[in-house]
Amino acid sequence: DFAGGEIFVRITVLGLGYVGAVAAAALARDGHQVLGVDVDPAKVERYRRAEVPFYEPGLDELVREGVAAGRLRFALAGEVEPGQLGDFVFVAVGTPSRATGAADLSQVEAALAWVAERVRRGRPAGAGVLRAGEAVDPQGGAGSSDGVGAADRVAMAGTEATAGTVWPAAAGGLRAPIVVVKSTVPPGTGRRLARRYLAPLGLAYVANPEFLREGSAVHDWFHPDRVVVGSEERAAAERVAALFAGYGAPVLVTDTTTAEMVKYGANAFLATKISFINELANMCDRVGADVEEVARGIGLDPRIGSQFLRAGLGYGGSCFPKDVAALDHLARVYDYPFELLRAVIAVNARQRLLPLYALREVFGSLAGVPVAVLGLAFKPNTDDVREAPALDLIPLLVEEGAEVRAADPQAVERARAVLPGEVRLTPSALEALDGARAVVLATEWDAFVRLDWEEAARRMDEPRFVFDGRNALDPARMAALGFRYRGVGRGRQR
Ligand code: NAD
Repeated sequence: DFAGGEIFVRITVLGLGYVGAVAAAALARDGHQVLGVDVDPAKVERYRRAEVPFYEPGLDELVREGVAAGRLRFALAGEVEPGQLGDFVFVAVGTPSRATGAADLSQVEAALAWVAERVRRGRPAGAGVLRAGEAVDPQGGAGSSDGVGAADRVAMAGTEATAGTVWPAAAGGLRAPIVVVKSTVPPGTGRRLARRYLAPLGLAYVANPEFLREGSAVHDWFHPDRVVVGSEERAAAERVAALFAGYGAPVLVTDTTTAEMVKYGANAFLATKISFINELANMCDRVGADVEEVARGIGLDPRIGSQFLRAGLGYGGSCFPKDVAALDHLARVYDYPFELLRAVIAVNARQRLLPLYALREVFGSLAGVPVAVLGLAFKPNTDDVREAPALDLIPLLVEEGAEVRAADPQAVERARAVLPGEVRLTPSALEALDGARAVVLATEWDAFVRLDWEEAARRMDEPRFVFDGRNALDPARMAALGFRYRGVGRGRQR
């Protein structure tokens, strides 16, 4: 009865967004008893019916399976009793950007305070932490009710089934639960928050950054490239790593801040790759080269690698923009001018406006021009529209008077909430293209790439201008069908 190298354990997952829901369902599949917790009653209600409140391929099935097996349960944060936290509490709440670019840590702080409060309530008054080799004071100890200080070093003898119980597997005297932070937090955060919320209760903090990608999150969870666990308490980090031992990935055990920096380093590097190829693409447009061939040519060098060398409208989504901004902000806080990162951000911000510049060039004024935008999600196979290029572009087109219609197979509902009311939204590309004079491909959904472009040409009006923001269409074929095609860095059609 081993799962991933660790005996089946009880796990609470706090925050049931993309990361938390995948974590909860996947850990239940591994055989653990998992309690998924969120503060959003509507979400919890849907999970209880074994439904996933967002689109992520394969996740519905995993959740249904866990619920049916009785290993995956859900609760609202307020309903969870102290004794129910289990051996590990995974924190997977959001860390959005503040206006300054800094990471907003309020959800993480609330989550840690929530854990601390439950652990404290689960312990009899005056009881506290038992460290390896420390004696248990049968009187329960005297004093400090805030859980700090000498009195806190006295354990509650004989109390079972509270969150403060010493679990058999907790070698080295560590106490359940171990708090595992999957949320992306700026380097230095974990040490600071651990001191504030967990150390007084003797709870260990383990940074365990998550690298899964939306759209292939379930696959990514079970097939990680590496597992990174960082803590000031090595034994705790190793217990967390043991949960993932069955996944066969290299494990990196580091201190907390280093683990946090691995996540930011990875995302900043990937963002840099994208901005770099986009800079090359813009140069290709000027000198008349084809960036697709250039990317192939440089990507075959294993030191460079072919992934993340796709020129286009740049990166979006819930992670890259905010994580890069947070690292940039952190650099400012430390009075370090991270010049390269600033350029990465500036290039990306400009890149998503390329269709606007191209449309102005083709039509002069956009007033009254019917323009179709294909793709609202920030990438294919997700309904996530956070920081999606289309959502920056569309309001600008509307401001210039274009008559905008937009299509997306999954993201229409989410986009509707944030787009101007006059934009017509539909899941059907052909419907959006009806009577349009121009089309911007903003997300390379398979359904768009494989669209019946012959039929699209029939439905559209002159000049049938296509701005292929993802270099996903075949320029020669599009030209043959009567479109006026423009990609990113594929040489201008003059
Ligand atoms: P999300 O916004 O989709 O989900 C966060 C969830 O947490 C929401 O359901 C929210 O209701 C809930 N929540 C907020 N406060 C809470 C609290 N105090 N207690 C319990 N639940 C609470 O976020 P996400 O996309 O899943 O990302 C979570 C974290 O993981 C972020 O830090 C993100 O940077 C990181 N991450 C995300 C991805 C990704 O692809 N989405 C990948 C790697 C890392």
